[in-house]
Amino acid sequence: MQPLLKVSNLSKNYGSTTAVEDASFALGKGEQLVILGASGSGKSSLLRCINYLEKPSRGTIWLDGQTIGGHHDPEGTWSPDTEAELVRKRRDIGMVFQNFNLFAHLSALDNIAIGPRKVLKRPKSECRSLARALLQKVHLDRHADQYPSQLSGGEQQRVAIARALAMNPKLLLFDEPTSALDPRLTHEVLQVMQELATEGIAMIVVTHEIGFARKIARTVMYLEKGRIVETGPVSDFFARPEREQTRQFLSYVM
Ligand code: ADP
Ligand code: MG
Repeated sequence: MQPLLKVSNLSKNYGSTTAVEDASFALGKGEQLVILGASGSGKSSLLRCINYLEKPSRGTIWLDGQTIGGHHDPEGTWSPDTEAELVRKRRDIGMVFQNFNLFAHLSALDNIAIGPRKVLKRPKSECRSLARALLQKVHLDRHADQYPSQLSGGEQQRVAIARALAMNPKLLLFDEPTSALDPRLTHEVLQVMQELATEGIAMIVVTHEIGFARKIARTVMYLEKGRIVETGPVSDFFARPEREQTRQFLSYVM
């Protein structure tokens, strides 16, 4: 069966810094992948290349059989996507950032409704009822009219998750979604993410929350200096890491 996401020989350089080196992996529909690695190992760069927030230096990304960032024309020549094509493809990939990145001047409800309204051009009333349903899904139904500054970090992050879901993405990317939060707020956010995983939403999660990783992920990938140095089913990975460096990293975070 065709995977949902396929990443093939992806590299990203910033000048002379190699942030990601020759990464290849696939993710099935409804699967969850956790990426671990020390700070600076290339986790964010890898996520940002998948949705073309950063242009990869080399390599190819397929989502549901479509290449991101460009396409082969009938003669087989590679043409880069136009901005409009890229915007359309990117809609299928939702992203949740460490610092929530909500619109400060919009209520929780409007933060969620604005994507379907402005980008997908859906009717206003439909967008508002979608936003209400999504607020309920992230357990924030009573906070619809509050602005980001009136919400806790955990609440803001759950609004950000609802906002990503509003575009009905095929894949959700999470870049350290709880590392700005204290343990109680972290729990609320992880709870919602776990519910989404149970529903079968495909996701790639960069996190240091090992307990959570064990619960939701099917596969764990460990990055070191931009390379995927270890990858495997979650049970094997934590029980029997192959490499001494991975064992050491796990002993720090567990
Ligand atoms: P991680 O998310 O694992 O901490 P990053 O992907 O942020 O790692 O960074 C990987 C490497 O790429 C680091 O050496 C970092 O300094 C470098 N890097 C990341 N983003 C940029 C950028 N925009 N410009 C230059 N170097 C960058
Ligand atoms: Mg990072």
